[in-house]
Amino acid sequence: MQYDVVVIGSGPGGYVAAIRCAQLGLKTAIIEKYNVLGGTCLNVGCIPSKALLDSSEHYHNAAHAFADHGIELDNLKVNLQQMIKRKGEVVKSNNDGITYLMKKNKIDTYYGLGSFVNKNTIKITDAEGKEQQIETKNTIIATGSKPTTLPFLPIDKKRVITSTEALELKEVPKNMIVIGGGVIGLELGSVYARLGAKVQVIEYMDAIIPTMDRALGKELMRVLKKTLGFEFFMSHKVTGATTKGKTVKVTAQNPKGEEVTFEGDYVLVSVGRKPYTEGLGLENAGVQMGERGMIAVNDHLETNVPGIYAIGDVVRGAMLAHKAEEEGVLVAEQIVGQKPHINYNLIPGVVYTWPEVAGVGFTEEQLKEQGRAYKSGSFPFKASGRAKASGDTDGFVKVLADKETDEILGVHMIGPRIADLIAEAVTAMEFRASAEDVARMSHAHPTFAEAMKEACLAATENRAIHI
Ligand code: FAD
Ligand code: NAD
Repeated sequence: MQYDVVVIGSGPGGYVAAIRCAQLGLKTAIIEKYNVLGGTCLNVGCIPSKALLDSSEHYHNAAHAFADHGIELDNLKVNLQQMIKRKGEVVKSNNDGITYLMKKNKIDTYYGLGSFVNKNTIKITDAEGKEQQIETKNTIIATGSKPTTLPFLPIDKKRVITSTEALELKEVPKNMIVIGGGVIGLELGSVYARLGAKVQVIEYMDAIIPTMDRALGKELMRVLKKTLGFEFFMSHKVTGATTKGKTVKVTAQNPKGEEVTFEGDYVLVSVGRKPYTEGLGLENAGVQMGERGMIAVNDHLETNVPGIYAIGDVVRGAMLAHKAEEEGVLVAEQIVGQKPHINYNLIPGVVYTWPEVAGVGFTEEQLKEQGRAYKSGSFPFKASGRAKASGDTDGFVKVLADKETDEILGVHMIGPRIADLIAEAVTAMEFRASAEDVARMSHAHPTFAEAMKEACLAATENRAIHI
């Protein structure tokens, strides 16, 4: 078979790239190593973790918030097996959705490991070892990432686990030790803390979610301690672990240089992810690697070999599904000669804990480092009528704007449903709105979104109405 484009990998980068290629009239194929489409995000990432976050949040609210709303329940209990089964059904229904989209867009799907024979020939090796070759003018590598592990802490997939196993546990841990206070550790730690586990987070840095605006991690830490009993051990360097029966002992060096020991029945290792290129045969096509195992690409996401592109987790930048999707669209449009653009500074980051956390644009720390003159306006959810009605008063919205021009430079939020509210900040910033522009727009009352308007008012000559 001869194709205009072959996409290797069917995660959010790959399958979206394939659809956009097909929309643009290119004869397209997609190759996936596993026998289901959707990649990390759909099968062991974004979607299953959010399904468990939603289920566990329902339980936690039923156990801790319903009574306050005047709803009384007897014999409330967790059925973890059903939660995991439901999660599987959510994933399956999305798998089917992507299969349907491939058919609808007349994209040929191949299941098996894709590897380069040369620049224009791709070999597909299926699970039984059967091989076939296809020819292509362009290739988009979208092979994603795998969990990073620590050399002294082998993953046994039973007691010492990564996010993949944490989505399939057969029991609620009694004491879950989470190594790494980043997105995965806090999201999956929240799932099991809500279901009754004691969660201890060991973090190497002096802050959780350290790449986001520091005010967010500080508030999230306060709330997770208060509502879910999380314990945090910051600036701790994990040095080893031993497993005996059902118990894992983790040793770490505390900030004073002393050795401390943690004991749990499960250890979740969530210290980041690394690009995945194994078995791709990049050398056969002459594709050069970049730093830290990434494929090197230029601003157009093209590798050193013309016609071979790479997108998503396998290249530089945030490891986020929506970043991968934008890159898939960009490459497809470039192949047909269009001039698309991605504003990487306006790709939002979201943590789906409760309260949710989200940020876009520059953090306050980055603005300070740049020496940029800025002003800041904040609005706390405890002053929001809507948040009081729902009982979700933790958190705030913080808006950072240029001191002279009032242009919004960064928006950082922690609070109820702000995973969706951050889209307003992205829209405003894409249109280069000033804080006053947003402050003058009508926001329905009572909504959580009013906190965005109020924070913009606060940044505009300190004019917030409700604080
Ligand atoms: P992937 O989704 O990793 O897909 C790559 C695909 O390529 C895989 O299916 C793989 O099997 C296939 N492949 C690899 N090599 C070959 C080969 N040689 N031949 C054929 N196929 C191959 N991001 C968010 O934005 N929001 C979230 O809420 C979120 N939650 C997450 C939760 C967890 C627990 C995890 C682990 C990640 C989460 N992420 C989230 C990150 C997100 O999953 C990734 O950023 C995203 O999946 C990257 O997409 P991708 O297309 O680059 O690669
Ligand atoms: P992360 O980079 O978010 O967090 C890793 C954390 O581990 C960091 O805080 C880091 O300082 C810490 N760390 C590193 N080495 C350590 C060590 N030896 N001991 C203790 N702490 C250590 O990585 P993650 O949580 O594993 O997630 C991986 C990727 O998946 C991220 O890039 C993230 O973007 C993506 N993801 C996104 C979402 C989302 O968008 N909601 C959810 C889950 C995962």
